[in-house]
Amino acid sequence: MILEPIYLSTLLYGFGIVCLIGLTALYLNVLTKDGFLAGLLIGVPILVFGGFDNFILLLTFLILGSILSRIGRSVKRRYNPVGEVVGTRAWPNVVANGFWPMISSVMIYFTSDPAIKIVWEMFFIGSLASMVADTSATEIGMLSREKPRIITYLGSVVEPGASGGVTLLGTLASAVVTFIFGLLAYLISGFNPLTKFTLIGFSPLVYTRGSEAWMLSVIVLAGFLGSLVDSILGASVQVKYRCRICGKNVEVPVHCGVDAEYLSGIRFIDNHMVNFISSFVGGVIAVALASLI
Ligand SMILES: [Zn+2]
Repeated sequence: MILEPIYLSTLLYGFGIVCLIGLTALYLNVLTKDGFLAGLLIGVPILVFGGFDNFILLLTFLILGSILSRIGRSVKRRYNPVGEVVGTRAWPNVVANGFWPMISSVMIYFTSDPAIKIVWEMFFIGSLASMVADTSATEIGMLSREKPRIITYLGSVVEPGASGGVTLLGTLASAVVTFIFGLLAYLISGFNPLTKFTLIGFSPLVYTRGSEAWMLSVIVLAGFLGSLVDSILGASVQVKYRCRICGKNVEVPVHCGVDAEYLSGIRFIDNHMVNFISSFVGGVIAVALASLI
């Protein structure tokens, strides 16, 4: 297997670019300090191994997420089921959302077969699309006037922001935002199939002509199904607690500064773990759907 060489300068460029963007995110309170460090571990491999196009998609996800989280902040502060600063990503969040895109970017580089590169590229896009769909459904859904319904039992309503809750507004917003994300991914990776714009310039991805519209539907569908899995896991196995101080149902073991009371779910599976799993599922679905074409 012959790999395109990675020069020290490439690594330094990559590190410099990600550092600069990360510091901006830190300054804008999009990331916490540990979120910034995790962001380097995720962002540098995506840029260096996955290329500029994948990195731009990662940035798009981050920018979309931070814009969406800032819409209606006062409403969200009221519900905030995780007791974190609204719209700021700490390291577990960064890792949960970025791990699979990072792994697939590394695999794109370390695979020499172009057909397998496409598989990893689809996995990358699908895992990220799943996070885009979930983030937009959550952030916009929280602003809905109708109370969310539990996805596994639509007759039952829950508080806005609760895991497993879905709203019509959130679902529609998710579809629109994921479509926009898919369109961008398609424009970057699919529209000009022979020039994959990278730092290291490995073999280009080749999409067959005429499959581009299909590719877009694959991305949107993978995002949608990934976020559906997110909601189902959130409604079923995700751990839930009740705060002893404010009485709210929360997703974290400590709320209002004290240990919360355990309600249900598997203790090991928190919101980040659910994101981690559904991101993986989104990637697998994208690969499966793309292989059908
Ligand atoms: Zn509380």
